[in-house]
Amino acid sequence: MNLLKISLSQQKASMALLVGFAFLLGTSIISQGAIIATVIDGVFLQDQAFATIVPLLLFLLGIIFVRASIIYASGRTGIKMAAQTKHHFRKRLLQKMAHSSLHTSLERQSGGKISILMDAVDAVDNYFSQYIPRLLQTAAVPLMILIVVFTQHVNAGLIMMVTAPFIPLFMVLVGLQTKKKSEEQLTQLEAFSGTFLESLQGLVTLKLFGRSKQQKDRIEESSIGFKHATMAILKVAFTNAFMLEIIMMLGIGLIALEIALQLIIFESLSFFTAFFILLLVPDFYLSLRDLGTAFHNGRASMGAAKKVENELENTEDNIQWGHKEFPDEKFPPPIELSHVSFHYHSEDFALNDVSAKILPYEHAAIVGKSGSGKTTLLNIVAGLIKPVEGAITIDGHSLFEYRESNWHQHISYITQHPYIFSGSIGENIAIGLNGQVSRDEVIHAARQSGISEMIEELNDGYETIVGEGGRGLSGGEKQRLALARAFLKKPSIILFDEPTVGLDLQTEAILQSSIQKLGTNATLVTVAHRLYTIQDADRILLLENGKLMATGTHDTLMSQSSTYAGMINAQLGVE
Ligand code: ADP
Repeated sequence: MNLLKISLSQQKASMALLVGFAFLLGTSIISQGAIIATVIDGVFLQDQAFATIVPLLLFLLGIIFVRASIIYASGRTGIKMAAQTKHHFRKRLLQKMAHSSLHTSLERQSGGKISILMDAVDAVDNYFSQYIPRLLQTAAVPLMILIVVFTQHVNAGLIMMVTAPFIPLFMVLVGLQTKKKSEEQLTQLEAFSGTFLESLQGLVTLKLFGRSKQQKDRIEESSIGFKHATMAILKVAFTNAFMLEIIMMLGIGLIALEIALQLIIFESLSFFTAFFILLLVPDFYLSLRDLGTAFHNGRASMGAAKKVENELENTEDNIQWGHKEFPDEKFPPPIELSHVSFHYHSEDFALNDVSAKILPYEHAAIVGKSGSGKTTLLNIVAGLIKPVEGAITIDGHSLFEYRESNWHQHISYITQHPYIFSGSIGENIAIGLNGQVSRDEVIHAARQSGISEMIEELNDGYETIVGEGGRGLSGGEKQRLALARAFLKKPSIILFDEPTVGLDLQTEAILQSSIQKLGTNATLVTVAHRLYTIQDADRILLLENGKLMATGTHDTLMSQSSTYAGMINAQLGVE
């Protein structure tokens, strides 16, 4: 069902309030007309004294005030409804993003996703703050006016009835056209945001490869695309407004002519009735016309909501976790991969039928050429991507039967490029734990991971701001910071993607000894490149083109696998 409609049905109280406001508005418009007509009639035709009409004038003032308050209150109610809906949409989108598989979340441009989360959700505003209040007002106000006019003068009522349907009819025709155009506009905006963010992130690379000019052209191209889409919508909107104005003027003109004929030539109407009708008629058409503007905005919101809906519906790669608890004291559990197969959407790489077992406290090393699927396998063990076939079982149950937080609480994953959030170094280390962490604990973790000296040399020490907008960190420093996070967390399963880039010998030695220290009380699974990591492992998993070629210790594999022996000899420089 349509997301916006669901949202409406969840806010029944606000809707009832809006319906109430709409009827109140109708009543005040009609009363205002009646009072003005009475006053004018009294003063000019019946020569009433000013004193007799003063109460009426005060009453009129009160009604004008009520009318303004209703407009304000219904706008407020609409905005409140919009805020609630936007909050709900963003929450669902974030939840969806958090549950999507790692490889899906890396797909598509981040800018595009931000545009859905921010712009598309914001575009929902108009639906509630304008479209819905207006829709209700247009359902109530013109109908009430029409009934009153019919009681006064049937011919005027008939003219209104005949001309009025042209307004919604015209709006529906235009609205249908705008909906498609506004969907196009959002797609263009998404592409534009994506290209822009990508260019910002890759500015250095683009410059070094002399591609800034091409990128500038790309940005220009997508911004022109966005401009055309916006102009197309505006063109329709302006033509729409012009046509609606003409219909409205024709309607009012016809009624004025009819009333004038009746009043002056046939003398069958009183001045009060004629004036009262003339006062009401513009409001009749105005509220219908206002619906046109609101309808146009509402359509754009519907287009945006559709985009949010599509994003939410695309759950094919979402990982569903269960609610099973794994007792804390039983960590680390044995990890078993049985007939695990996985492929990315592009399907040119596949992890094929991998079966292996990693026992508690074992140090396992995943080895193989670049592109053989080592990181993919480590992501599967981490529960970041779900195997297409086969299963990863923990203590005899599928990993995904457990509660996600239960699993993540006990593992630490040190990737090659740990993410450093903008904030102080201290905060970045403490991110490993949810609760309160004392400065001493942070410092202790930093010592164990060998990053404390570097931090203490900085002017602001642990308060130094790093990450976006702050001081940069080298690859080795980032990994040591990630290790400090792990020392603080004391995980029982450590997943480590060993750096492939050459670090200096000292950093390399610090990393190595820290990870060994961290691994003494834990299961350690490393994507290994260094000979000493590989040789020391209790179990080596050798991958080639996504297939598990052999498992065993260094010695067994040296004698049994020529691929393995070849790889090791190449590292040793033996021909
Ligand atoms: P390794 O860690 O052994 O170098 P990876 O597991 O990173 O290998 O990658 C294995 C293959 O999967 C590579 O060919 C890579 O191009 C492809 N691959 C990795 N990540 C993705 C992704 N998110 N989407 C599509 N293909 C990917």
